[in-house]
Amino acid sequence: MKKEDCIFCKIAHGDIPSSTIYEDDDFRIILDLGPATRGHALILPKSHYADLFELPQDMAGRVMMLAQKTASVMRDKLSCDGFNLVQNNGESAGQTVFHFHMHLIPRYENDGQNILWKPGSASGEELDIVRKQITE
Ligand code: 5GP
Ligand code: ZN
Repeated sequence: MKKEDCIFCKIAHGDIPSSTIYEDDDFRIILDLGPATRGHALILPKSHYADLFELPQDMAGRVMMLAQKTASVMRDKLSCDGFNLVQNNGESAGQTVFHFHMHLIPRYENDGQNILWKPGSASGEELDIVRKQITE
């Protein structure tokens, strides 16, 4: 997809209005239009990177710092009980907008959401094969 057609580029640059909770020269943090829970927000870099793999390392570090800071503020102001950081890459992982974004999802007791995965199982032998595949 061309950058000119990217909805998050338009939102990040302020060409499309959004409920912005933070902005600096390089980032905008907005409330998600289809919130999983009350306060669900998205950290958007203003530059277009499709996903984690395109994101420069220094930007990745800044995303994490912003996530921590914003989650702390939201915990105080929204009185949530927990917090999920979620970041999807690729269709198989549930990414629907191909402009990097980090989800900030405040969690509340009995909020009815189920964001965690279904645990599988793996033998020690399988784990060893995977470990070798990644590290060798
Ligand atoms: P993904 O599935 O790609 O990780 O997440 C995309 C997120 O963007 C979804 O949670 C969806 O609700 C949100 N979203 C999609 N379009 C818009 C929009 O135009 N404005 C806002 N604020 N959120 C959007
Ligand atoms: Zn974009």
